[in-house]
Amino acid sequence: MDAPLARLVELQRLELKTRGLEEEIDSVPAELAAASDRLEAASKQAEAAKRAQERAVKQRREQELELKSLEDRLRRHAEQLMSVKTNEEYRALTNELAHERQRVSEIEDRILSAMEEADRLAAEASSAEAQVRQAESELGTDKGRLEAKRERLGRDRDALVAEAAALAAQLPEPLLGLYRKLAVVRGGVALAAIVDESCSACRLRIRPQVLSQLRSSDSVIQCESCQRILHFESETTGESA
Ligand SMILES: [Zn+2]
Repeated sequence: MDAPLARLVELQRLELKTRGLEEEIDSVPAELAAASDRLEAASKQAEAAKRAQERAVKQRREQELELKSLEDRLRRHAEQLMSVKTNEEYRALTNELAHERQRVSEIEDRILSAMEEADRLAAEASSAEAQVRQAESELGTDKGRLEAKRERLGRDRDALVAEAAALAAQLPEPLLGLYRKLAVVRGGVALAAIVDESCSACRLRIRPQVLSQLRSSDSVIQCESCQRILHFESETTGESA
């Protein structure tokens, strides 16, 4: 087994794993923002429900005032009825009273349905409030959970970075330099395993003489197509990232 190459394979495995952790760490703020968004949406809904409820209460008060003034008029007209002098006056006042009684009954109906509506709105507002409290508590939990996740991932990443640095320090500089250069242009994947006598990255078939050269010597051979450093699968540690 070519020791530097095996180390390089391990280095790439560590660095790809580090990269994966970095991506996970970077996604934490978005997860937190999603929890904040849920709370904000719930708050807006609760606010709207509360305003609707307040409007309904205000409307009912106005209707109650209207009812009261109508009832006062009704009472005055009923008293006036006692002292009318002519039939004509009597008829006019009786008509007026009938009309006012009709209005009273209409307003009473409206107040009744407004009360039902107010009950419905109050239930809606309180359920919206409950949702806000739920979203708040979820946000609190999520914050704690995501902070812990970020810390854990950060520690894992630091450990990997340290491990990779120790490993890199053992590699010959030209090989490490080549690896770094290829990693930059090949999305972090500078090495390619040979699978079925082909480059596993670009599928180029490896010539038999290259294969035997790779088997017999410790030379570094790059894929003729994608330039990645070739290695046999057996040289991986077998552990997957
Ligand atoms: Zn290739």
